Amino acid sequence: MYTGERSYKDAIADIFTCHSCGLAQLRTNIVVYRGNPRSDVMVIGEGPGEKEDLQGKPMVGPTGSYLVEILDRNGLTLKDIYITNTILCREPQNADPSQDHIRACYPNIMKQIQLVNPKYILAVGKHAAQLLIPNAKPITQIAGMSFTPPHLGGIVVIPIPHPSYIMRARSLTEQYERLVAKICEQIKSKEAF
Ligand code: URA
Repeated sequence: MYTGERSYKDAIADIFTCHSCGLAQLRTNIVVYRGNPRSDVMVIGEGPGEKEDLQGKPMVGPTGSYLVEILDRNGLTLKDIYITNTILCREPQNADPSQDHIRACYPNIMKQIQLVNPKYILAVGKHAAQLLIPNAKPITQIAGMSFTPPHLGGIVVIPIPHPSYIMRARSLTEQYERLVAKICEQIKSKEAF
């Protein structure tokens, strides 16, 4: 959780004016975070979509809000989580985040991780998993497992599939929601992963 003396918004003010890559010219808003910087659980998604770009907030469109709703249903409300993404500006046509853009945005993501210093990071989808877990295997093989990457100083990273995958394969909904529920339970009970 953020324990700095300055307001959290002041501490990350430079991120809001980032021009590290060409996406800055295309954005309506940079999409930095929503939720609580003083929480122990960080959720890192893929990247902003159309709604996120318009509102300047992550996971407010149909896909992201579906995940936020499952977390809420399982006791992790917006007071209990901090949400950001692998890249903070929208890719045109909702394309996957490019490696160049992920690399350019990395300092913005690391700064948020360092300041919030969560106990847990839910890495949502393959881009977040690959960003945080060295040599990450495919997301379906590592979903729900826990990792403590050496460069993150003890933060537990838990990868889960991206909700857009589930929204395309509705038959997996129950399994997905069960996985997220189990992770929420473990986090809430502070069980060792
Ligand atoms: N919205 C976001 O902000 N991130 C995602 O990963 C999906 C939807």
